[in-house]
Amino acid sequence: MKASAGGYARAESVGHALDLLAGSDGQGRVLAGGQSLIAAMNMRLSVGDLLVDISKISELSGVIVSGGTLRIGALTRHAQVGASQVVRTHAPLLTDAVSHIAHAAIRNRGTMGGALAHADPAAEFPACALALGATMHSEGPEGARAIPAEDFFEEVFTTALKEDEILTSMTLPVAEEGEVQILEEVARRSGDYALVGLCLVKRASGHRVSLFSVGPKPILATVAMAALDAGDLEAAVDAVSSEIDPPSDTQASAAYRRHLAGVLLRRAVARLKGDTA
Ligand SMILES: Cc1cc2nc3c(=O)[nH]c(=O)nc-3n(C[C@H](O)[C@H](O)[C@H](O)COP(=O)(O)OP(=O)(O)OC[C@H]3O[C@@H](n4cnc5c(N)ncnc54)[C@H](O)[C@@H]3O)c2cc1C
Repeated sequence: MKASAGGYARAESVGHALDLLAGSDGQGRVLAGGQSLIAAMNMRLSVGDLLVDISKISELSGVIVSGGTLRIGALTRHAQVGASQVVRTHAPLLTDAVSHIAHAAIRNRGTMGGALAHADPAAEFPACALALGATMHSEGPEGARAIPAEDFFEEVFTTALKEDEILTSMTLPVAEEGEVQILEEVARRSGDYALVGLCLVKRASGHRVSLFSVGPKPILATVAMAALDAGDLEAAVDAVSSEIDPPSDTQASAAYRRHLAGVLLRRAVARLKGDTA
């Protein structure tokens, strides 16, 4: 199947992209790396009478650290995130995540902003954003907005972004001294979407645990986090499997996904303690 015919325009700047979206009568679709959007259009799961191509807007790409904050431009490609020494130093969870995302060809084209805006519940970056306490930054006709990750992911493939807004960057606090960031996932084959994935961040203020591929959106497992803070791993394992609402599908049953969530938490805590045996 192929996508239905539609228009295409290359935006020269964020302002130009916003003008194109505003003039599209709600039919504009932002095109970044195209790795999810074009596939969805070819399957007629998504339509766009006007593709607004933002891929050449250089101000939307790149990684900067300033005053304790790491900023990653929305157009920064997965491969660039994975290769960045700045990201490895200040947010190693994201470096780890890249190695689990799809295959090299997709990582060379797909963008971090595209993955966040697409909000696939099985994607790695949205769960990383939750665990790291990241903030999403958007531009729209009514100006700029800063949206905490916890408010950004709303439903399957649905975020707090409005149709006429563009995600411009994600910011997050740089890792503090001694902070540990761990990503664990189980997938049937390397490069497949995870059956279940888990992020664990340990900071001086406590633990943060997020999960993906366990329901309609990534979740922050707050009860499990409190149990880990109290040093009770068994309670955390119980909590993590009851805080999620996983689907049963052709890949795995809900019960198996609940079991995996607990296994992944145990693995992550073992790594946290330096016990990798
Ligand atoms: C075979 C295959 C396997 C994959 N495996 C994985 C995997 O294991 N893990 C994973 O996380 N991902 C996986 N992906 C998805 C991949 O990471 C995509 O690159 C990513 O989801 C979308 O990024 P993109 O830049 O290509 O966005 P696009 O496809 O261009 O856009 C995706 C959606 O986001 C919107 N959008 C994009 N950028 C913006 C923006 N700046 N502002 C507002 N809206 C925007 C678009 O309008 C569209 O709705 C896989 C994809 C394929 C094809």
